[in-house]
Amino acid sequence: MGGSNPLRRTKLYSINMYNLHCHTLLSDGELLPSELAVHYAAAGYKAIAITDHADYSNIAFITKAILEFTRHWPKNQKIMVLPGIELTHLPPEQFKPLAKYARKEGIKVIIGHGETLAEPVIPGTNRAALEADIDILAHPGLITEADVKLAKKKGIFLELTSRQNHSATNAHVAEQALKLGACLILNHDSHRPEDIISPKDSIKVGLRAGLSQKEIDKIYCEVGIFIHTRADK
Ligand SMILES: [Zn+2]
Ligand SMILES: [Zn+2]
Repeated sequence: MGGSNPLRRTKLYSINMYNLHCHTLLSDGELLPSELAVHYAAAGYKAIAITDHADYSNIAFITKAILEFTRHWPKNQKIMVLPGIELTHLPPEQFKPLAKYARKEGIKVIIGHGETLAEPVIPGTNRAALEADIDILAHPGLITEADVKLAKKKGIFLELTSRQNHSATNAHVAEQALKLGACLILNHDSHRPEDIISPKDSIKVGLRAGLSQKEIDKIYCEVGIFIHTRADK
């Protein structure tokens, strides 16, 4: 999404405090979805996506539970909650069918758990996730040029994360995305209350990855548009 004045668009799409990657008791997080939403609202956030870990064993349960939750989350609350999911450690060929399932059920933010160097992720996962109907490729490690180009072509966000260990390759991801024109997103991958950092500290994650403030503004802007598009559907 190009555009000459990202700052103006940020105002237009006023949601610029978001985190579209967090975990709850529905998988390996510590908080209930309501509790998490209240924590994020208190920290000054305007929108989150709850994206618990899923594979074939639990996708039906998580999808149903998070949709039930978001359907009942009052619109008058300070924070918007989007139903999401993180397809995690799948054999590569399972990304397509499970992304398709989640989308059909009404999940609005689909994350692929990328090839972080911090965990033994199956090689070929970045590519398989990008070929499926996902929105965000989380912590994609030493992502290749070809995969960055595919992300760009499909409009899939590449994630810069504040999560320890996964964040080791942020600078590589940022550099490749800027060079090849793919969209970036700044996320927390939060599991515990301590992982909920302030919006200011989120920006620092981008700065540490080598982005300028202007480039970070552009990210907020693009993600703001994405959130509005998904929320309106
Ligand atoms: Zn986790
Ligand atoms: Zn995660």
